[in-house]
Amino acid sequence: MLEELLKRNRKLKGFTDHGVVFKSIVGTQVVGTCPFCGKDKFHCHQDDLVWDCKVCGKYGNFSKFLEYRAGEYVRDFGKHADALVRDRELRKSTFVAWDVE
Ligand SMILES: [Zn+2]
Repeated sequence: MLEELLKRNRKLKGFTDHGVVFKSIVGTQVVGTCPFCGKDKFHCHQDDLVWDCKVCGKYGNFSKFLEYRAGEYVRDFGKHADALVRDRELRKSTFVAWDVE
């Protein structure tokens, strides 16, 4: 039933593409693993994609979800920026210009 819902409701794919693992359906919500804290308390409404995590307290609409995830991607990438500057001879100013330091 969950697999069928995920195939039918393509909007939910945006969440699974960015780390949410949906595990069950509870009423009008799908529930899964929160990509921010790793706990299985990420609740998302099927229709309007408003979501919240009952553990870490993050919440929002789909745009807010992407904003949070993008911030994490930039931070994670920043950890590797020095190695790229050194090993690939990239300019540090490029990373600074893209807000990655
Ligand atoms: Zn969480």
